[in-house]
Order: sequence, then structure tokens, then C-alpha cells
Amino acid sequence: MPDPARSHAVVIGAGMAGLTAAQAISRHFGKVTVIERDVLPAEAAPRRGTPQCQHAHMLLAGGLKALQTLFPGFENDLAEAGAVKIRAGKDLRFERPGFDPFPIRDLGFDIFSMSRPLLEAVTRRRVLQAPNIGICMRSRVTGLVASRDARRIKAIRYETGDEPAVTVEADLVVEASGRCGLTLQLLEELSLERPEETEIGMDQAYASTIVERPIDHNADWLGNIVLPSAPASSRGAFLFPIESQRWLLSVGGNHGDAPPGDRAGFMDFVRSLRTPTIYDAVKDACPLTDIVRYQLPCSTRRHFERLESFPTGLLAIGDAFCRFNPVFGQGMSVAAQEAVILDRLLAEDVPEERLARDFFAAIQNTIAAPWGVAVSDFVYPATRGVRPADFAQRLQYGIALTKLAADDPEVHRLTVEVSQLLKPQAALREPALAARVMALM
Ligand SMILES: Cc1cc2nc3c(=O)[nH]c(=O)nc-3n(C[C@H](O)[C@H](O)[C@H](O)COP(=O)(O)OP(=O)(O)OC[C@H]3O[C@@H](n4cnc5c(N)ncnc54)[C@H](O)[C@@H]3O)c2cc1C
Repeated sequence: MPDPARSHAVVIGAGMAGLTAAQAISRHFGKVTVIERDVLPAEAAPRRGTPQCQHAHMLLAGGLKALQTLFPGFENDLAEAGAVKIRAGKDLRFERPGFDPFPIRDLGFDIFSMSRPLLEAVTRRRVLQAPNIGICMRSRVTGLVASRDARRIKAIRYETGDEPAVTVEADLVVEASGRCGLTLQLLEELSLERPEETEIGMDQAYASTIVERPIDHNADWLGNIVLPSAPASSRGAFLFPIESQRWLLSVGGNHGDAPPGDRAGFMDFVRSLRTPTIYDAVKDACPLTDIVRYQLPCSTRRHFERLESFPTGLLAIGDAFCRFNPVFGQGMSVAAQEAVILDRLLAEDVPEERLARDFFAAIQNTIAAPWGVAVSDFVYPATRGVRPADFAQRLQYGIALTKLAADDPEVHRLTVEVSQLLKPQAALREPALAARVMALM
């Protein structure tokens, strides 16, 4: 007998968080409706609702694993769609202060590199194969509706074009709008407490363009990452191989050091990077797109897990829950990992009154490692927010760990597994390893 409390779920937003959440929920609900304000392209193409999609988007190995769990065979789908297979540690050159490049070693696993629109198109295609998921496009959710006793969510309201607003009943509503505005608005309407927010204000700026990747490019790498010499400079860059023999180049700086939007200024910025590798690779490459820019003032973590009361049947996921500085390449992977956790909780038949509390508690572990990385923005004196009391010590630990990783392939592999969200950050504090790191500090 189908559970009457699990007949219809609504997911707001068809970005990576919304799509993966919809897939997770579809295994446990009669019907899932994803409501998206954009018209979604049939193929991989940028769209207005996700302006960040034209910038470099790395899918970490932990995110790939989560996608593979939700959509068995996902790696094949990516490869067939033209994503570039990358051997971790080998094909992507990593230049960081003191190590230009970091030692090149085969770390034993593959990741895929592609444009964000391609990743989203592949994911969307898989979602639409589920017979009980429907995507309602060009529809903007304008409000959430609570039950009369204000204890649970009952419905959502949305508008399509100029047509009158429609109300749709739902047993579960997941806000994956990237912003969280609807949930916060509902909490205010119900006079419920809003979640506390932790912010790390770094004013990250991006500028990106796509260029042809020359067939005869004969370096021993497919892509390159240049890390800045922080805190003196925040200028860094990603050059990622993407589908159709192209490179996506994103450069960035923070606290006002924003890359220009005209091509000459953009190329000057590329030339000013800490190493010449990327400039030399792209200076004669044929540009295929204009330069696009993006600014993000801060990383934001909303502490839903601390709330005493929260409406039953409502969840926030992905960027709506926690948004990271994009330079660390974590948002999509964390969203997919959160969806896997949601799938598990639904499979365990967690009662609906406990679902939000258990979900927000369970994803704290998932958030811990990427948030620990986001905190490293405090290396810049201008960064706003509450610097952890032990920040200087963490920084020293990180520097010593990096030195050790350069010398020891096993430590190298472990640090990459943690940064790729395959292992928890606690793995870097195991006593035997910690003792070796401390000895170097
Ligand atoms: C410049 C930049 C670079 C990045 N690089 C990386 C990277 O390398 N790796 C990585 O993993 N992450 C990266 N990210 C982060 C990544 O884009 C997000 O974390 C990820 O897309 C998850 O977002 P989401 O699905 O929660 O929100 P979004 O991707 O923002 O999707 C939200 C969706 O909701 C829709 N929507 C919003 N409001 C409504 C409404 N009221 N009604 C209906 N629909 C609505 C929007 O149209 C959109 O489709 C980057 C971000 C930026 C800004």
C-alpha cells in the first residue's frame, strides 16, 4: 500500500541540488514535481536562472560518487556526452606556491571535466527517465503555504507567465532555489525563529571565457590550476578541458581585485597570474565566447540544525542551505551528497515530523569538510566574519601537511581524497599522521 503521507513532493528549482533531490525522493514518493522558473534547454546550454553556469565548475570525486549512487551508470553517461576523463593527480596540473607544479602522481581514480550546462543536461536527462518525476518549467514559486495550525507545510503557490497563480498541495517541499528566500519568508509569516547564519565575507570575483583547445597542444596535462600567493595576492585560475575539444578558463580575485570583462584587460589579468603556464597555453587560442563575470560577497551557512521548531514537510538543500566560495569547487558535489543522505533517511522511514531535524543533523558531517576549506579565506586580512580562534595553527598545519604530501605519495593521495570529498577531514588529524605533520611545523 502506498504511504498516503508520501503521495506528492515538490522540489523548487531544477539546478544540481533540485535534480538530485528529486531523484532521491522519487524512490519513496508517489509523485515528484520539480518547479523551475527557467525554460530548460534540451541540450547543454547556459540559462538565466543559473548565471554561474558559464564559469568553471569542477565536479569532485565525492560528488561523482554521489551521482553514481543516485543514477547508476552516470559515469558512462558523462563520457558518452563528451565529458573529459581526467586521472586524478596526473592530468590536471596543480600549481601552488612553493610547488610549480605539485608532484605529478597517478592517484588511482578518475574524475570528469565538463561544462556545468553539460553536467546539468546529463543529470536532467536521467531525472526525466523516472516515471514519477515531472518538471514544470517557466514557473516561479512565489510562496509556501502552511497548515492552519502552522505546524506543517501544505502547499506551494507558483505562477507561470501571465497566468493566475496556482496552488499545489504537497506532503514534502524541498527548497533548492539556491537562495532560501521562500523558506525564510514562511518562517517569518509563521513568527518562527530564522536560522542563525555564519558568513565568511571574501567578495570573490570571477571572469571566464571558453577557447578552443588546440589538438596539437603537446603538454603532459589536460588542465591547469594556479593557486594564488595568499595573502599577498588572491589571483588564481582554472583552465579546465571541457566537451568538444575546448578549454574553459576562469580567473578570479577577491576583496576588490576583480578581473576585467574586456578581452585585453582579461588577458592582462591572466598574464599577471603567479605562473605563466595558463597565459602561454591560451594566448594564441581562438576565443569562442565573450567574457562573463560573476561576484559573490560571502560564503553562507544557515544553521537549521539549531532551530527548536521548523515546519514538518519542509527542507532546504544545496546552496539554499549552505553556499561556499566557488573557488573550492564544492557546491554541486555537496548538494549531491546531501541528496544521498535524504534518500537514506527516506529509506529508513524516518517519521515525517522528524525528517527535517534528522536531515539537517545528518548533513552537518557532509558540510564539515567543505566548510573547513571555506574558512581558509580568513588568510586574507580583509575577510569579514569570525575567524576561528585556532586559525593560525590550522594554517601552519596545512602548510606542513602540504610539504609532507609533496614528499609522500600516500599522504598526497589522502589529502586529495579529503579535498575531493571522498574522505572526512578528520582523516587528516589521525594521530600517526598528525605527529608527522607536527614534527614538520
Ligand atoms: C562562479 C561560480 C563557480 C562555481 N564553481 C563550482 C565548482 O567548480 N564546483 C561546484 O561544485 N560548484 C561550483 N559552484 C557552486 C554551484 O554552482 C552550486 O553550488 C550548485 O549549482 C548547487 O546549486 P543549487 O542547485 O542549490 O542552486 P542553483 O544552481 O542556483 O539552482 C537553483 C535553481 O532554482 C531556480 N529557482 C530559483 N528560484 C526559483 C523560484 N522561486 N521558483 C522556481 N525556480 C526557482 C533557478 O532558476 C535555478 O535553476 C560555483 C558557483 C559559482 C557562483
